Amino acid sequence: MSTPYATAQSQLDEAAALLKLPSDVHQLLREPMLEVHVRIPVRMDDCSVKVFSGYRVQYNNARGPCKGGLRFHPEETIDTVRALAAWMTWKTAVVDIPLGGGKGGVVCNPKELSELELERLSRGYMRKIAHFIGPDLDVPAPDVYTTPQVMAWMLDEYEAITGRSGKGVITVKPLELGGSPGRHDATARGGMYTLREAANKLGLDLGQATAAIQGFGNAGMHAHELLSSLFRTTVVAVSDSKGAIYNPTGLDVKAVSEHKLARGSVAGFPGAKSISNEDLLELEVDVLVPSALENVITNENAHKIRAKVIAELANGPTSPEADQVLHERGIVVIPDFLCNAGGVTVSYFEQVQNGGMDRWKLEMIHKRLDETMTAAFNEVWETRERMQVHSRLAAYLVAVRRVAEACTLRGWVGHRC
Ligand code: GLU
Repeated sequence: MSTPYATAQSQLDEAAALLKLPSDVHQLLREPMLEVHVRIPVRMDDCSVKVFSGYRVQYNNARGPCKGGLRFHPEETIDTVRALAAWMTWKTAVVDIPLGGGKGGVVCNPKELSELELERLSRGYMRKIAHFIGPDLDVPAPDVYTTPQVMAWMLDEYEAITGRSGKGVITVKPLELGGSPGRHDATARGGMYTLREAANKLGLDLGQATAAIQGFGNAGMHAHELLSSLFRTTVVAVSDSKGAIYNPTGLDVKAVSEHKLARGSVAGFPGAKSISNEDLLELEVDVLVPSALENVITNENAHKIRAKVIAELANGPTSPEADQVLHERGIVVIPDFLCNAGGVTVSYFEQVQNGGMDRWKLEMIHKRLDETMTAAFNEVWETRERMQVHSRLAAYLVAVRRVAEACTLRGWVGHRC
């Protein structure tokens, strides 16, 4: 199986060929512009010291400061962080916000750390990367297993190091520390706006539709909530890393969330059949929402997927081979870096509010998010139809062209003799 970074590079190669990108531009866009590798010694509660590895990758900043989340995960690798940083670059470009792409990661299992250990690790990571980031340079945010509380500790450490207020250095802060209204469900909400547009194109009535959601973190849980509240779609299955549950008559979002909060997992939810994560992906539903980690739809299972639309809230859930199979089978994929761009879009709104010492109303955030996601979806759809390519490739064509133009305008690349 190819690694996430190899996947990201092969996706770019395909777009570069169609765009006839000059080779200097292609080479520049194939790899990150800067990588920081750090070792973080952390005093544990038992007084011993444990040393963690961390990364921050700044993939490309031609369109603006790098932007992207930070993951705490036991299986984090530099390869994954590079891929995620590349995808952030295409993500900010496809929704046309003035930012570049970056990503960070720390190899750790936050479920095994006490709250104080987590705080010391968060502050330790910030001490190592503080001189590489900043509101005009590179702006982290949460990703898998990182939270607004982690962002708050990091903001505080950054401000202690620089000796001044620097709220725009990090986004998805708690509201009290300059966070934005509407950021908590922005990733899922943005994805729902693109799903609404896709359903319109396909003549699919979401009010009569069924959905399955793989992953029940921030994105998956809010997708469940919003599918129910915005469209009255019946969510028949959800899952997390411990298992999946299925009820063909529908799962109540409040009851499932409460069960997850109390038991730490959706598994064992009463009134639903327990199935595997693999079974969930292959259910006969109208909408499938992968909301967990990379590489879950591959050439092993792509021919068994029965959904009509796949709304990718996760980063990198589908392999390039699977993309081709899904396309041939007429399944519409709303590709990750378009579908889940609502998160970084509202992060950008947070940066704008921080810079102007302002706070916007929730209605305004939702309206601007909807406009941004709808415009991006339509541009990708129009490219898909015109170029007769699958939707991920269409999204790449839109995004890569923008980044390539920015690099060329800056004089970084291009034949000038
Ligand atoms: N981690 C999120 C993503 O993958 C959000 C990034 C951000 O808000 O900067 O898009």
